[in-house]
Amino acid sequence: MTQIIQGGNVPYRDQFVTCGHCGKQFVFSIEDQRRQELLGFEIIRPELCADCCKKVPPQPGLRPGLIKWYQEEKGFGFLTQADGSEIFFHRSAVEEGLLPELKERTPVWYEIEITERGPQAINVHQRV
Ligand SMILES: [Zn+2]
Repeated sequence: MTQIIQGGNVPYRDQFVTCGHCGKQFVFSIEDQRRQELLGFEIIRPELCADCCKKVPPQPGLRPGLIKWYQEEKGFGFLTQADGSEIFFHRSAVEEGLLPELKERTPVWYEIEITERGPQAINVHQRV
């Protein structure tokens, strides 16, 4: 039986997606879709399975995120990505004028850069 949940105007149902990298089928679950919407994102179907997301370097380009927290004294913070995971950002990555009062849940665009310490968000600017 296929489960359908009504959320706003969007009917949710598990979707089967073929991974664009390994060709494996995976489920884009109702939970994943609801989480994206709760975070205020447009619901975007992932193109890669979870395994390939970890292996394949991120595609260049802007992604939507939400500020999770930012501490001016520390000079860094974390933002929440569309898949619900968090990513580090440094104050130098943030558009001028947005600091120092970068509030929780501020919608932003960002890009991902892989550094020696792992992925971090760069080019963080406000999403209007
Ligand atoms: Zn895959």
